[in-house]
Amino acid sequence: MKIFLASSNPGKLREYCELASGSALELDLLPNFTQLPLFEEAASTFAENAAGKALYYSRITTEMVLADDSGLVVPALGGAPGVLSARYAGPNATSEACVAKLLREMDGKEGKDRAARFVCVNAVAKLGQMLAVTSDFADGTLAKQPTGANGFGYDPIFCFGGGQRTWAEISAAEKNQQSHRGKAFRKIVKLLSSPGSTSLS
Ligand code: IMP
Repeated sequence: MKIFLASSNPGKLREYCELASGSALELDLLPNFTQLPLFEEAASTFAENAAGKALYYSRITTEMVLADDSGLVVPALGGAPGVLSARYAGPNATSEACVAKLLREMDGKEGKDRAARFVCVNAVAKLGQMLAVTSDFADGTLAKQPTGANGFGYDPIFCFGGGQRTWAEISAAEKNQQSHRGKAFRKIVKLLSSPGSTSLS
């Protein structure tokens, strides 16, 4: 099954290519994605943004379109950065600037107050119709300084479970096994392979 990813995030594209390899899905970036009028992610939930994005771009091609909305939720900051994860330090902020802002906000927070959750919603649509929606999460804690060179976004400060290594210090395969994205995508593959069902939480 062919499927186009609607994303301009190279980190996400890399992970989805790795996740799709060996699966029933033949995944590629939606052709000319960067030249298409951008879908505005203005909703306050990951689900609405992912669904809206998938439906919007599915009207541009005849193939299935996969959209991902994801981000980091920190309970001690009232859920921030949440759906604004990519824009936490401003509209065109770099990941480094977003990480630096988050570390400043976390200053003085210890123990349970450093808990964080990555959330990912996957939505697949075709010709303006929703085919499948899944979501999942990964719980961990925030380190006090960035470590490691792998991954993207907030990976250098996220330690999965009770671990000490950040997601920027582990291999892509290990991250995909643990991650919100890996788990949501494996559910999507399962759903698309079992026609009739449309969501799996
Ligand atoms: P969006 O889904 O394009 O709105 O952006 C999601 C943002 O959340 C990314 O730009 C990252 O900052 C952050 N994010 C989502 N998933 C991950 C991940 O697996 N690792 C690190 N950061 C992530």
